[in-house]
Amino acid sequence: MGLYKAEGVVLRTRNLGEADKIVTFFTHDRGKVEAVARGVRRPRSRLLGPTQLFTYGRYLFFEGKSLDTVSQGEIIDSFRPLREDLNRMAHASYAAELVDRSTEEGDRHEGLFPLLVAVLRLLAAGDELALVMRYFELHLLEELGYRPHLAGCVRCGQQRAPRFSLELGGLVCQRCGEADPAAVPLGEEAIHVLRYLQRAQPERLGVLRPSAAAMAELEAVLPPFCAARIGQPLRAMDFLLSLRAGGP
Ligand SMILES: [Zn+2]
Repeated sequence: MGLYKAEGVVLRTRNLGEADKIVTFFTHDRGKVEAVARGVRRPRSRLLGPTQLFTYGRYLFFEGKSLDTVSQGEIIDSFRPLREDLNRMAHASYAAELVDRSTEEGDRHEGLFPLLVAVLRLLAAGDELALVMRYFELHLLEELGYRPHLAGCVRCGQQRAPRFSLELGGLVCQRCGEADPAAVPLGEEAIHVLRYLQRAQPERLGVLRPSAAAMAELEAVLPPFCAARIGQPLRAMDFLLSLRAGGP
């Protein structure tokens, strides 16, 4: 049993016993790591800050037989607005749940860690939260090997492809769309935004000002596509939608 250091983000925490917590991290080098933070619920615990939800930090772990232990933490960015603003928190929770549900412990995902950090940074400071989430979904899918095909019809290659098929994993033309009656119609603007998001760097999202109609179309496509690929419904998405509808 050894020690290891890792940069990570806190995805989830749950109480254990009187004073401990089990913390789920997503780390750069080891993917998802679950570790016990001992005594963290006692006043003045030095682990309290570094193990708060969504915190990005450097951690020192001890390997254990079943669960590892996190013994030290140093905050790189606490992403405090994500815990103080309900709307930001709801979005960050959704991002964290997506990562938690789509990865296994110890599975490395080279590109996913910087993507998660970049997206949390945008959710903490930006204002186009829904757009940031659509960006995250698209790039998460890509990291998981489900890159949506957006260059034309996924089946026949035809340029004009005005629907998105969750089943086929991309845009489909009118004719191929008949093979999947559940394919969702997308307007030109929504397709343009999708293609832009797929190739943009996260810091370039601000140049987009999509209409509410285009955003609604993308929301009908990407969250269900993620849920279908991950194979389970996402609780945090329901919470987000209920927030928008006027409170849970
Ligand atoms: Zn086609």
